[in-house]
Amino acid sequence: MNELSGDQEAFRAEVARFADLHIAPHAGRWDVEDRYPRELFSRLGKLGWLGVGFAEDHGGSGGGPVERCVLIEELARASAGVALGVYVHTSLAAAALADIATPELRDRFLPGLLTGAVTGAWAYAEPDAGADVTRARLAARRDGDHYVLDGTKLYITNGTFANIILVVARTAEQPGKLHGLSVLAVDGDTPGLVRTPMAKVGMRPSELAELHFDGCRVPAHRLVGDQDRGFQQCLTVLSRGRVYGGALALGLAGAALNAATIYVTAREQFGGPLTRLQAVRFTLADMAARLRAARALVYGAAAAMAAGRNADTDASIAKLVASEAATWIAERAMHLHGAAGFMLDSPAQRYYRDCKILEYGEGANELQREMIAKALVAGFRP
Ligand SMILES: Cc1cc2nc3c(=O)[nH]c(=O)nc-3n(C[C@H](O)[C@H](O)[C@H](O)COP(=O)(O)OP(=O)(O)OC[C@H]3O[C@@H](n4cnc5c(N)ncnc54)[C@H](O)[C@@H]3O)c2cc1C
Repeated sequence: MNELSGDQEAFRAEVARFADLHIAPHAGRWDVEDRYPRELFSRLGKLGWLGVGFAEDHGGSGGGPVERCVLIEELARASAGVALGVYVHTSLAAAALADIATPELRDRFLPGLLTGAVTGAWAYAEPDAGADVTRARLAARRDGDHYVLDGTKLYITNGTFANIILVVARTAEQPGKLHGLSVLAVDGDTPGLVRTPMAKVGMRPSELAELHFDGCRVPAHRLVGDQDRGFQQCLTVLSRGRVYGGALALGLAGAALNAATIYVTAREQFGGPLTRLQAVRFTLADMAARLRAARALVYGAAAAMAAGRNADTDASIAKLVASEAATWIAERAMHLHGAAGFMLDSPAQRYYRDCKILEYGEGANELQREMIAKALVAGFRP
């Protein structure tokens, strides 16, 4: 990665060492147990890594989007599920509080999120609101100096245990519109909130929950951004977040390629290692080429963000290409493992299960294509 500075390379090596030692050896077990290693939040917090990309006067560790990409990529190389939990905690929950909340609300929660003493989640998906957020219906009705929340959120990462959940709620009846959607920072132990774990195919160490809000009273000063406009104000956070989704895809794809390379080098058929077969070598080469191209896009978008440029379209392109590259690479990696890759003790099947969500999470790839096409028509030059 010659585009990284010496300090950034050193940071990558440090995170990789930690992930190799403390995450990778347990990743298979955490996958089977469907359990997030929650103690990791305080370990990563103590190392200052949850604060990467956050301003030092907000309790962050400095650095920027490139360093955050390095962190997420290296964690994902060891366990995509672990990286997903960290990504939601830092790049959605903490980032929205840092960028959009009032100074009082930010100062109350952000330091705890960045040390890992507090864990965060971000909740917008609902039974009837997936890629189309305008369909969100969870209601926040004003009652004196509180909002009263009624409704359901689905598929919420860290939702089983997060102490603070940023909930997208409807404060004005404007179906089909983003206007009227507000964001509230809700305590995980609010009376009336029931969290039910959801079983899933991949990303299993990240814990997913259905959240049911039944008359939950949330103080009005917990609004993140303005009433009725909070979600729109958070769109910048979501756009930037896509680049970290791309970094997660890179880590996952890198791990799959590495496992496949090791396997076909050691596995002998037809009188020698599988790497003697041109079709196998070409598959590895194509995997490497797609990964390298995706990496250039992700780090290019992160560098543009770090330079203060509007990189929304770059982030969309990076997320689109990296997530589809990860799916392709993980599928080829599993193929190259033959029957061994089909066994539950093979990491290849885990990469294959983990990658798919990256294509429709954090803004479905169809939406990214729509945004990229719109930018092109408006004059964007790739
Ligand atoms: C592991 C995991 C973690 C998640 N974590 C969170 C979280 O922390 N917080 C949260 O709020 N949500 C989370 N989600 C939910 C995620 O946000 C949704 O999956 C996403 O919003 C898409 O919604 P949907 O899955 O209901 O798909 P739908 O919107 O119903 O889409 C179904 C299909 O249609 C396609 N599609 C959608 N729009 C278009 C279009 N305009 N044109 C063409 N095709 C389209 C999609 O790509 C998909 O293939 C998570 C989901 C999973 C599986």
